[in-house]
Amino acid sequence: MPYAEVIGDPIAHSKSPMIHRFWLEALGMEGDYRATRVAPDGLEAYFSERRADLAWRGCNITIPHKTAALDHVEDRGGVRQSIGAINTVFRDGDGTLVGTNTDAGGFYAPIAGLDLERETVCVIGAGGAARAVLFALSKLNVGRVTLLNRNPLKGAALLAGFGLKGDALPLSAPVPAARLLVNCSPLGMTGQPLLDLDLAPLPEDAVVYDIVYAPLETPLLTAAHARGLETVDGLEMLVGQAALAFEILFDAQPPRDRDEELRALLLG
Ligand code: NAP
Repeated sequence: MPYAEVIGDPIAHSKSPMIHRFWLEALGMEGDYRATRVAPDGLEAYFSERRADLAWRGCNITIPHKTAALDHVEDRGGVRQSIGAINTVFRDGDGTLVGTNTDAGGFYAPIAGLDLERETVCVIGAGGAARAVLFALSKLNVGRVTLLNRNPLKGAALLAGFGLKGDALPLSAPVPAARLLVNCSPLGMTGQPLLDLDLAPLPEDAVVYDIVYAPLETPLLTAAHARGLETVDGLEMLVGQAALAFEILFDAQPPRDRDEELRALLLG
C-alpha cells in the first residue's frame, strides 16, 4: 500500500497523520500516512532505507530536521538559499528525492484574496516560520515590513535577506498602521508568555493572523476580535501547508470543502 509519513523528534504530537488520513479516507483512496520518530543521527539511514521502499511516496519533515534534511535530497527550487528549510520530500519520476517547502504557500492560501501590494505589514518573530512568511511576502510586492523580534538584529538580517524594505525593532516597539499583522513567534501559545501588543494603531480593515494554533483563539486574536478586526487562525496555515503536501505526496486534490469537519476533528 502506498504511504507517506511525517518525521521528527519528538513526533507523537504531530497533527499531520490526522489531516492526511482524513483526506485519504474522504477520497476513498488506498494509502496510509504515519508518524515516524527519526533521531538527528538517523536521518541518513532513514533516507537511504526509504529510497529503496517503492511504496513510500515521501514525507513531511518537522523539528529538528527541517534544515538538516536538505543535505540528503535535491534542492531544485533553491530552498536552502531562500526559506532555508524544507518540510516536504517527494520522489520524482526517476526516483530522485526532492525537497520542497509548503509552509509559505500554506501561509498565503487563507489571505490570497487580500491585496497587499505596497501595503504595510507587521511580522512578529524571526525564526523558521517567519522565514517562510517573509518569503511569501517578498513575492507579493508588499510595502514596508515592520519586524518585531526579541533579537532585532536577527530581524534586520531576515528583512535584508528577503529584499524587504522596513524596520526591525524590539517587541516593545509600537505596532505600525499595518494592513496585515502576523504573529510568527510562539508567544501566546499554551505554556508560553503572552504576546503583549497594543493593536490600536491598526486600521479598521487590518487582518490579524496568528500562526499559533494551540489555543486556536489566542489572546492576540481575542484582542483583534474586540476591535472588530478580521482574523486568521493557525489551523488555516497548518491545513493549508498540509493540503499542498498532500497534492505532492498523493497526487490528488484534498477535499477542502470538508475543512469544517477536519477542523472539528483536529480540535476534538
Ligand atoms: P523558532 O524557529 O524557534 O522561532 C521562534 C521565534 O520566536 C524566534 O524569532 C524567537 O526569538 C521568538 N521567541 C521564541 N520564544 C520567545 C520568547 N519567550 N519571547 C520573545 N520571543 C520569543 O520557531 P518557529 O518554527 O518559527 O515557530 C514559531 C511558532 O509558529 C510556533 O508556535 C509554531 O508552533 C508555530 N508554527 C505554526 C505553523 C502553522 O502551520 N500554523 C507552522 C510553523 C510554525 P529570537 O529570534 O530572538 O530567538
